[in-house]
Amino acid sequence: MNNPTLLKNLRNIPDFPIPGVQFKDVTTLFKNAKCMKIMLNELYEIYKDKGITKVVGIESRGFVLGAALAVKLGAGFVMCRKPGKLPAETLQESYMKEYGKDTIEIHKDAIDEKDVVLIHDDLLATGGSMKAAYNLVKKFNPAHVYINFIIELTGEGLNGREVFDEGIEISTLLRV
Ligand code: IMP
Repeated sequence: MNNPTLLKNLRNIPDFPIPGVQFKDVTTLFKNAKCMKIMLNELYEIYKDKGITKVVGIESRGFVLGAALAVKLGAGFVMCRKPGKLPAETLQESYMKEYGKDTIEIHKDAIDEKDVVLIHDDLLATGGSMKAAYNLVKKFNPAHVYINFIIELTGEGLNGREVFDEGIEISTLLRV
């Protein structure tokens, strides 16, 4: 947790995408080979004994380490995408964002009841997008669901964890 090399390499962009927001730019972690290795190893240590069979990555920054981790865990990788991107039949979940409704999708045949699923995204802010992904994955009735983020924002007024029920195991690598 809070590896100093990761903290040192995480870039903060003030006032992006709108004034007042301190945007955490994970691309500076992705472009750095040492950071990629640290993050992947930390994730592997957390999940290696959990019997994960599918890693679900949330578009698009959740695809990067999600796919790498799936390979390391010997699990499959599933894309959770914005509407209209996946070519076959999907299950969907809609949720409210700050400026209106959003929808996400997963292929109908991507997860089954025997799967132990890890849902991965880059960052937890309000928890809205992950909650939607969690609700969507639950529609497949998998054996178990874990949740992970690279970064958990802990700033004032942000308590993303609280939108999830207590029994759900959530891990994060950095709390900033
Ligand atoms: P939430 O739904 O409010 O928890 O916001 C998390 C989602 O918004 C994730 O999919 C993130 O990729 C994106 N996001 C929000 N804030 C940031 C940020 O500071 N850096 C990178 N992504 C962010």
